Amino acid sequence: MSNDAILTQILFQIQAIQVSQQTLAAKVDVLYDVYDLLTVVGRCVSRRRSNSDSKLDKCHFHSSVELYNLGGFRIATSLSTSPPGKTLTTETKDKEREKALYPGRVLLTTYPDQHGIQPYILHWFAKDPLVRGPVICSRLPSSIKFRNALGAHSGSYSIYRALAIGMGTLSPSHRPDYSMTAPPVDIPPNESWWTPGKIISFDPWGHLAPQIFANQLRTKEEGGEGLDVRPSIAVTRAHIKLSELDETVRRGGIDVDGKIVMKSRPVKREDGSVNESIDPGVEVAVSKAAVEPVWYLPGVAERFGISETLLRRSLFEETGGMYPELITRPDIKVFLPPIGNFTVYIFGDPALLSSSSPDVHVTLRVHDECNGSDVFGSDICTCKPYLVYAIEECIRTAQGVQADMVKDGKKKGVGVVVYFRKEGRALGEVTKYLVYNLRKRGGDSADRFQALMSDVLHWLGIGVNGRGSAGADGKKRGRVDNMVSMSDMKYDAVVGSGIDVGRRYELPDHLIPPDSRVEIDAKIASGYFSTRKDGKELTPEELRKTVGRGWEEVEH
Ligand SMILES: [Zn+2]
Repeated sequence: MSNDAILTQILFQIQAIQVSQQTLAAKVDVLYDVYDLLTVVGRCVSRRRSNSDSKLDKCHFHSSVELYNLGGFRIATSLSTSPPGKTLTTETKDKEREKALYPGRVLLTTYPDQHGIQPYILHWFAKDPLVRGPVICSRLPSSIKFRNALGAHSGSYSIYRALAIGMGTLSPSHRPDYSMTAPPVDIPPNESWWTPGKIISFDPWGHLAPQIFANQLRTKEEGGEGLDVRPSIAVTRAHIKLSELDETVRRGGIDVDGKIVMKSRPVKREDGSVNESIDPGVEVAVSKAAVEPVWYLPGVAERFGISETLLRRSLFEETGGMYPELITRPDIKVFLPPIGNFTVYIFGDPALLSSSSPDVHVTLRVHDECNGSDVFGSDICTCKPYLVYAIEECIRTAQGVQADMVKDGKKKGVGVVVYFRKEGRALGEVTKYLVYNLRKRGGDSADRFQALMSDVLHWLGIGVNGRGSAGADGKKRGRVDNMVSMSDMKYDAVVGSGIDVGRRYELPDHLIPPDSRVEIDAKIASGYFSTRKDGKELTPEELRKTVGRGWEEVEH
């Protein structure tokens, strides 16, 4: 056996020991809770004995089991500091409601060897979705034992759902009817969906879950398995309207073709009559998909080059210990993290993305949310002009008139904009504004979170279009012809995942708002990607060598 193999084995053993040690530690913690509980029960009982006035008795518990569930600390607090304004009746009412909403005892965590625990088998990279299995993270009594995923659906919005349930406006067992929600646009399975390592940050079958897992979803009374399976992707069609696009059409930069770009309905006066003197502008037809994060932890760990154990531990610690099962359930490999989703906007025929025809041209923009600029038009950065320019390039591609495709003599095109809810290099808007104030320049806060970004391109079939160069395995790589971005990080993520990028380019000079020119120049001066240097276009080789450096704002 080679040294490497032995080291790998030792490492694996150490990781296994770590997991069992953490599981053991968690079990000891539970014993501590039981100890605390017994102490509190003892104090309550002696208080009851010594206190004939029942109004002073603040031990509001129905059974020792429930007391155990609430944990010794909180009970001890309520014994001594019940708020004076809160009446016994309100508390009792809430207690009863809590019982009705959640009849079972509180399960702080679960263990793989616990009685009745039978996770639904999930083979993340299986080709057959029924072999792959449904993602189940519900804690409803019907599903909790079969859960094969940690966390909750809807990312950060799961907290609002919790509030709605707590306030009594939504039942915890509410299960929507998915029968009329099937995608109106086809995003069909492709090889990347089951190629190990290609898609690990969301569920590629997420938009088809209610159809594929209909039997698992159906109630037991209806002959099904009664499991709480939910879609984690939704696909739909829409028209978008941006005043910037209206302007571009007026300037002649985009044609109204009646199919992708249409004239908007006439503007009306207050009395309902048509106001011919106002140009109503245009709207653009798109297909779009909202995609929720569903992480396959071994794949995410591999992508970031760390061990799964370390990934689980840091997720557990840095979420304030919110997900103890990251530690106690090493057998559950899927985690729905409480982070924002992303949205895919497709301009033109989505089927062209996976097409191997040499006549096809694909234009791409991967955009990280910048609420201040994208929505509110803040001029501190160039995010919105970038986004709008990329949308225009996508439209021109879909119309078959984008400059590069005309040059290459291509006839069919499709454009994709992926919009990630990942504000300020995934630091959040608060940190972002602090950095604005600090005006710190330099390379110490680079965006390391583009590593998961390429998954969506593989979901769309770009990875298997075979229009790229030959890969190491002899198979043809996928290809994006145009990428509107200055970010090396994004470029590296796309190329590293097996997709060639034909040409990448930036926002043209004349579209840069004057106040943002300083930002762009600072980026280029600090070694940021630019196709221009000393007024000359760089060769692809020179571009590859350009090392991206940090900037306090979002990467483009
Ligand atoms: Zn910005």
